Amino acid sequence: NDHSFDVPLTPKHVNWSAHYPAWFQQQEQQEQQEQPGDQQHDSSHQDQDKVAKEVEHLDVGCGFGGFLIKLAELYPDKLSLGLELRDKVTEYVAARIETLRENAAKAGGAKSTTDYGNVAVLRANAQKDLPHYFRKAQLTKVFFLFPDPHFKACNHRRRIISQQLLDEYAHFIRPGGLVYTITDVEELGKWMQGHLDRHPMFLRVSDEELERDGDEAFAFLPTASEEAQKVKRNEGRTYRAVFRRV
Ligand code: SAM
Repeated sequence: NDHSFDVPLTPKHVNWSAHYPAWFQQQEQQEQQEQPGDQQHDSSHQDQDKVAKEVEHLDVGCGFGGFLIKLAELYPDKLSLGLELRDKVTEYVAARIETLRENAAKAGGAKSTTDYGNVAVLRANAQKDLPHYFRKAQLTKVFFLFPDPHFKACNHRRRIISQQLLDEYAHFIRPGGLVYTITDVEELGKWMQGHLDRHPMFLRVSDEELERDGDEAFAFLPTASEEAQKVKRNEGRTYRAVFRRV
């Protein structure tokens, strides 16, 4: 159940370098090279550096992590994070990332755009825990890919998109940031689009605009995650919609 794990008190209490060790080591080395012998640089400069070290891409309910790992490859200079409620699934994704990191280290960077130092997974309940991990306007891309449909009307309140949760997501997403949704359940697709359409802080981005801009995350929504692959194998239809935080 979701009460059996700890969450940090505030985002400042999260030790991100434990989740992205190689990334933070590299950053530190670069900083030392840039300012040799000047460890006590003024604090405003340090604050700027911190901004570049924050998670920007969030895969909510990342499942087995196929899309999350694609994100790491598509955006090697950004930190991507998966949130997953089930502990065994979270462990699986963490092990998968660890293996990718080890293989990348062996290959010496020859095979991929990333050494997977820029991707991590956390066990968390996205409906409750976001304020413990993120600050206002931190996130630039948030993904809701094939979320649990909760078909029965009495369970609709458990859906990951609701007017109330959108208020919260809007707080953590930077103006201009994007929310990506996809599902194979037509009714849920309409539900997600309807809620986002009605919310004053989100505006639909047309498929044409995303294709014209070459938005790679958008292009991979129907194929990269495990659920997407399952739907594709069964030749199911998908309903995809992207919204911009105004
Ligand atoms: N996005 C993945 C994909 O496309 O393959 C997984 C889709 S799966 C149908 C939905 C996932 O969301 C499950 O792994 C579930 O455990 C997770 N999930 C459900 N509610 C959640 C919540 N409140 N916070 C985090 N993860 C959640």
